[in-house]
Amino acid sequence: MNYRHAYHAGNFADVLKHTVLLALIEAMQAKPTPFCYIDTHAGSGNYPLDGFEARKTGEHKDGIARLHPAEKVPPLLQRWRTGILKSEDNEQGLKHYPGSPLQVARLLRPDDSAQLCELHTEEASKLRDLFRGNPQVHVHQRDGYEALKALLPPKEKRGLVLIDPPYEAQDAEYKLIEQALKSALLRWPTGVYAVWYPIKLRSQVQPFLRKLQHSGVKRILRAELLVHPDDSPLRLNGSGMVILNAPWNLDDTLREPLRVLASLLSQDRPAEWKLDWLLDEAGSQLNTPS
Ligand code: SAM
Repeated sequence: MNYRHAYHAGNFADVLKHTVLLALIEAMQAKPTPFCYIDTHAGSGNYPLDGFEARKTGEHKDGIARLHPAEKVPPLLQRWRTGILKSEDNEQGLKHYPGSPLQVARLLRPDDSAQLCELHTEEASKLRDLFRGNPQVHVHQRDGYEALKALLPPKEKRGLVLIDPPYEAQDAEYKLIEQALKSALLRWPTGVYAVWYPIKLRSQVQPFLRKLQHSGVKRILRAELLVHPDDSPLRLNGSGMVILNAPWNLDDTLREPLRVLASLLSQDRPAEWKLDWLLDEAGSQLNTPS
């Protein structure tokens, strides 16, 4: 376990992931009944952008630092900036990047809850410190895939699971995700599951997405943003989020934000984006992942 998210916090992949995450949380909160948020790979929760790790890679400069000052962004991105990034941490400019647990915690209503899993001792300890005294947020230092067995279905019977692992060994991680989803869907077939994935070589992702099309779930939406051609296994060329049991109008919610993000986050060439249903409401295959 060498991965530390502090080196990557706020990069272009986080921007995509957390934009989709906000859209999903807002979809959950469209109904007044409480929901549960489960983060299988939570990280430490809040990342200083002037810390050693962020300064070493500078990745946030091609991510959140481009969105933060942009004028005229779509309402979803505007709500993300004002509701989540603009906190007491960031009153003097963009100094911290909140991770998925903190972003969601800032949005929870009084009866919503969050279950956060983080395996790494130091990261879990920081996460625990961050939410100490918050009765809605529960931190578990344990394997997030294993924890799903105990946490599902949540007592609220409504909710969202974010699976955002480090992919230190890509093929092995995909297998773990597939197994975890299989067993999670047996326990809780109606949950919403969002999985983040890196895009290095396109051919590494396709088998995973194709397998999901046979997972028995209907409504699978894929959102991707690619800042480099997907032809190098050595660098992160882009990333995606695939959502199982996705809210029916999530594509409409994300279309304009993704178009704007592609324009803001372009690097050596115009960024490409994809937003498509891999399976529709009737369980019909609409697209073969390409
Ligand atoms: N979800 C976070 C966010 O968006 O801010 C970032 C998470 S980071 C990509 C992945 C995290 O998973 C790391 O902090 C790593 O220590 C942790 N991790 C690795 N293997 C794990 C496992 N089996 N169970 C739980 N956490 C794990």
